[in-house]
Amino acid sequence: MIIVMNPDATPEQIQAVEDKIEKLGYKPHEISGVERKVIGAVGDERGKDRLQSIEAMPGVESVFPILKPYKLASREVHPQNSVIHVNGVPIGDQEIAIIAGPCSVESQDQLMTTALAVKEAGANLLRGGAYKPRTSPYSFQGLAEDGLKLLAEAKKETGLPIVTEVMNPREVDLVAHYADVLQVGARNVQNFSLLKELGKARKPILLKRGMMTTIKEFLMSAEYILAEGNKNVILCERGIRTFETMTRNTLDISCVPVLKKETHLPIIIDPSHATGHWDLVDSMARAALAAGADGLMIEVHPDPASAFSDGPQSLKPDKFAQLMSTLKPLATLMGRTL
Ligand code: PEP
Ligand code: MN
Repeated sequence: MIIVMNPDATPEQIQAVEDKIEKLGYKPHEISGVERKVIGAVGDERGKDRLQSIEAMPGVESVFPILKPYKLASREVHPQNSVIHVNGVPIGDQEIAIIAGPCSVESQDQLMTTALAVKEAGANLLRGGAYKPRTSPYSFQGLAEDGLKLLAEAKKETGLPIVTEVMNPREVDLVAHYADVLQVGARNVQNFSLLKELGKARKPILLKRGMMTTIKEFLMSAEYILAEGNKNVILCERGIRTFETMTRNTLDISCVPVLKKETHLPIIIDPSHATGHWDLVDSMARAALAAGADGLMIEVHPDPASAFSDGPQSLKPDKFAQLMSTLKPLATLMGRTL
């Protein structure tokens, strides 16, 4: 339910409404309205009609149901775009956010070389996986905490905030200790225990769309995180699985305008996993900006041929720098900055 307060409602009246919401077994979420306070009450769908009684409370203007199944993620509840601030880097604002780095953290040299190069080319955040969700248990699984330590070193050297994946609810605190943004990989988009745990974390979450996830399911996954109190969710489209085999996945570019209509959360595109081929990354990165994406996540490796994971889709640093220079005028054309 959405509770709209009168413009002259007192703080005491607002508090009384929030207390009542809790008493009825729901969670109040304050939604910053420009002229009036709006409170979202979310919880068990079955008894929600009981919330209608709040309409009679002093200071309340109206109470009405949230029609979308995703409540806190919907534009209905939060008409303005959400801007997520990561150590001073805004995501979802006018500025295009560029997250770049290797698929996996492999060594100090590999990570530092990449970090310095992507920083020089204008990236705003550094990515790198220390816990890798690999299809085969015999493939490289990541350096775990040693990898997180290398990411922290690279951050110290470059100032770039860190984006890294967390796969296990038990490792959220450990990863959050080193990371600035916690990534949920495509394979975990419906790992609801992990999502609930991340809802309690104090760090922004980069939620990747699953390879078989509809936009509605994707937003319901974001809702799991928001419902636990973490408002800082960044959505990432990374391609979905179709019958096509010439690309690793099929980039669902139309999800950008659809998501822009449905949600206030920022949306970024990962053209690396979406295509699986480094030579397709440029065109899909440009398509993403043209479609209105708020940022990009791009895999970069100093020597893709010897990468431990995702070499074929990784750009060499010089190619990444070239791409950045072609994206700048496009961002301007789109009324954004880069
Ligand atoms: C990754 O970002 O390296 C990754 C594993 O991505 P995805 O979860 O989208 O496959
Ligand atoms: Mn990868």
